[in-house]
Amino acid sequence: MCDECHACCCTMPVEVWLPDLIRMGLVDEFEAEGPAKQIAKRLTQARVVDQFNHASGVFILARRANGDCIYLTRDTRRCSIYEQRPQTCRNHPQKGPRPGFCAFRPKRTDTSPAED
Ligand code: SF4
Ligand code: SF4
Repeated sequence: MCDECHACCCTMPVEVWLPDLIRMGLVDEFEAEGPAKQIAKRLTQARVVDQFNHASGVFILARRANGDCIYLTRDTRRCSIYEQRPQTCRNHPQKGPRPGFCAFRPKRTDTSPAED
């Protein structure tokens, strides 16, 4: 299904946590032991992160002006860090604010739930 889609879900805000940032190679284990606020400040300045919620520890990945995730390859519409992508992206569309919802699905006749 994703092969026929233009990565609609990669234009939505993506919540990431510290373990995601480590897997993505943006934060090392040493820095991860320090204040999350400092990490957020650095990554915001580097334009990798748009927002940080200190209470929940959630970072929001930065997006381009057109809404695309910064890790989305413009021409192929593929994730450039697929093997290291955040857990939120791995879970989509099974988990999230609207479980099972895929932005592309309404255009298709097959409405059966996604398999795990
Ligand atoms: S999960 Fe849905 S919106 Fe995301 S790429 Fe696949 S078909 Fe497109
Ligand atoms: S990290 Fe990859 S899979 Fe996740 S939203 Fe960005 S481009 Fe899409």
